[in-house]
Amino acid sequence: MGNKPFLLNLSLAELKALLADWGQPAYRATQIEHWLYQQYATDASAMSSLPKLLRQQLAERCLINPLELVVALDSSDGYTQKALFALPDDRRIETVLMRYDTRQTLCISTQAGCAMACPFCATGQMGFMRNLTAGEIVAQVLYYARQLSQEEKRVTNIVFMGMGEPLANYAETWRAIRRLNDADGFNLGARHLTVSTVGLAPAIRRMSQEPEQVGLAVSLHAPNDALRNTIVPVNRRYPLAMLMASIKDYLAATHRRVTFEYALMDGLNDSDAHADQFADLVQGLLCHINLIPLNPTPNSPWSGSPDERVFAFRDRLLAAGISTTVRLRRGIDIAAGCGQLHNAQRTEPLLRVN
Ligand code: SAH
Repeated sequence: MGNKPFLLNLSLAELKALLADWGQPAYRATQIEHWLYQQYATDASAMSSLPKLLRQQLAERCLINPLELVVALDSSDGYTQKALFALPDDRRIETVLMRYDTRQTLCISTQAGCAMACPFCATGQMGFMRNLTAGEIVAQVLYYARQLSQEEKRVTNIVFMGMGEPLANYAETWRAIRRLNDADGFNLGARHLTVSTVGLAPAIRRMSQEPEQVGLAVSLHAPNDALRNTIVPVNRRYPLAMLMASIKDYLAATHRRVTFEYALMDGLNDSDAHADQFADLVQGLLCHINLIPLNPTPNSPWSGSPDERVFAFRDRLLAAGISTTVRLRRGIDIAAGCGQLHNAQRTEPLLRVN
């Protein structure tokens, strides 16, 4: 790979500058962007509107597609798909496509592994390998956009809820968001993008100053510090008072509704008293709560709450006037559910190699 420029990392202005060095006119950059982000080309030879010499130069001097598909899996209900990719240094990441009636939502990764060490999360259990570059983040979207285009469908929503902590890879995550949002890039409205964070308070404040109006989701999982310290270790660095203060600042700056994610763990964080504490914590905030029974992961010390508890917890929040829904469990048979992403090649019977 060396230090070849990676096309998907470049803004239009940077691509123009690169091409100017090669003696190429600026409009060639716009053509290349079109091939990358609207035609989902992975190979310079497909860019038929470019002169042959330029195609050769691109192929020799640049990296165009950083992802190699290792395994693609389909859930048995056909609504969820997962891809395991190898990066140029052979690190592995996973990406999930969820199909709904009229929407196609992608769940993308921002890091290989994760340093946040939440014990219930498969990515947290594997530890941190490295940050992804913006291009490696964007390429996950282009892979599924390419696949969906064959069915005349498109990616309608993107959630930064795959492997890793997006706000711990702030610069590259934001660079990717700009490429995905830019009219000369993938051109998806910022409101169709959601960043999910474990709760890095300073980065939440920073996010509130960005011009792109992307959504914010916060993985809360516990309504008091004593419990959250054990479930979400980074709470020791950014305890709830700090986290909630940053969210209030975010709301004051953006007026955009924040989502709280809360994985219900049997007998741990799912009592009526926890629901009441949770309601007190978020009372009066412009927010929505997304509950999910914890998905199974190999080394989790806890398991998901039973359905009756999940609905009782929801009803208690609703009774307190808090907008709350239970998230549909998706793709559990292919370990594509929340918190199940890992970097190992799996060999379930459902395995399908494209
Ligand atoms: N690091 C970010 C992005 C990961 S998003 C974050 O923490 O938000 C993945 C979401 O799935 C988070 O809300 C995470 O807490 C949740 N999650 C992790 N493991 C889970 C599990 N086993 N069951 C259900 N949700 C889980």
